[in-house]
Amino acid sequence: MIDERRVIERESYDVIVVGGGISGVAAAVAAARNGVSVLLIEKSVNLGGLATSGLISWYEPLCDGKGNQLIYGIAEELIRLSVKYSFDSLPERWNGSKKEDGIKNQRYSTFFSPTVFALALDEFVTENGVKIRFDTLGVSSVMDGKVCKGIICESVGGKEFFGAKMVIDASGIAVVMERAGVPTVVGENFMSYVAHGFDMKGAKKLAEDENVCDFRQWIGVGSDQSGVGHPKGMKKLTGTTADDVTDYVMYGKKKLLERLKNKERGSFDIMTLPDMPQYRTIRRIVGETDFCAIEGQHFLDSIGDCGDFRTKGIGNHYQIPFGALYNSNFPNLIAAGRIISAPQGDGWEVARVIPVCALTGEAAGNAAAFCVKNNCDINGAEVLFKK
Ligand SMILES: Cc1cc2nc3c(=O)[nH]c(=O)nc-3n(C[C@H](O)[C@H](O)[C@H](O)COP(=O)(O)OP(=O)(O)OC[C@H]3O[C@@H](n4cnc5c(N)ncnc54)[C@H](O)[C@@H]3O)c2cc1C
Repeated sequence: MIDERRVIERESYDVIVVGGGISGVAAAVAAARNGVSVLLIEKSVNLGGLATSGLISWYEPLCDGKGNQLIYGIAEELIRLSVKYSFDSLPERWNGSKKEDGIKNQRYSTFFSPTVFALALDEFVTENGVKIRFDTLGVSSVMDGKVCKGIICESVGGKEFFGAKMVIDASGIAVVMERAGVPTVVGENFMSYVAHGFDMKGAKKLAEDENVCDFRQWIGVGSDQSGVGHPKGMKKLTGTTADDVTDYVMYGKKKLLERLKNKERGSFDIMTLPDMPQYRTIRRIVGETDFCAIEGQHFLDSIGDCGDFRTKGIGNHYQIPFGALYNSNFPNLIAAGRIISAPQGDGWEVARVIPVCALTGEAAGNAAAFCVKNNCDINGAEVLFKK
């Protein structure tokens, strides 16, 4: 049957950001701080994406692993915000509460409360003048040739169209870019499922130490990030169909329940199940330049530097090209976060973590506002980053 519901035409914005994860928050705030009007569309009812609803409550480092801070700006504001109203495990040298334990090069990273961080994100985004639209699914990019005129959304209010001059895709799945026709690649994932809980040991430790930080535990089933623990015979997961997502979450929950059946009833609880599928990568765009995380590779359009969360004491240092955030055939679309142009391997691994998603989000927001204010397309925004 044909869907004949009328599309309700709503107001237009200078910039629309689809997806309110870390990259979307950074993009929306960066754009709004430049004085343009911004609508942030989020399908769930909380901001933070994987970092909050996905329970990934560990903010990977802003430093190079040798004690040097590499990432600043909104990524730093957000690490501070993540612990502003709750516990932290930031080392003392980064003004946190974690005692130096003799290990040289303690990293600029922290655990945070995903629930309290989600509350703080609403405040942060609205104080910066961004209009938020929760419970609203961006379903299609309305195209005039290669130019995106706006986004059709579905919400409890019906089918709505919001117009925009620039659109930032921060959906984690490249929903805007892919539906606009931008070439994309599909990722591959090991089976990992993480819930949060506590047990008696944690409760006793909390009573002794009076430190909430260690109380909330990650309870993971399946694989680690390198594939150790991936179920034998299971194909890698993509997250590009509802069937794949359903199989993935059903398997994760079944395995979690099996594990709980071995525990003594009444001695633990699961505090939160993830509210979104915890795939590390789903879809990434094919942009102007791939970010491959190559030491010493210099880009004229570098948006900033990042390290490698996987290494400590080595001091890795990578420039991220602005060209990884767009495809020049699509003049008013920009990617942010874990969907930027980066091949599976080191580039993608390095780019997908929370601080780097904030960095690419901030660059996307600044570039979108620059285009609006200078009446130029995405190719014109390159001058923003050219040294
Ligand atoms: C198992 C696992 C462990 C990880 N461990 C760490 C770690 O320890 N530390 C770390 O820093 N990083 C870690 N990461 C990576 C990191 O959490 C994410 O890559 C990062 O948070 C992604 O941010 P994002 O904004 O790009 O996307 P997302 O967090 O995916 O945000 C996208 C947002 O867009 C919304 N959305 C999607 N489609 C639509 C639509 N059509 N309309 C409207 N809204 C939409 C979603 O609801 C979501 O809120 C881990 C990831 C996984 C899966």
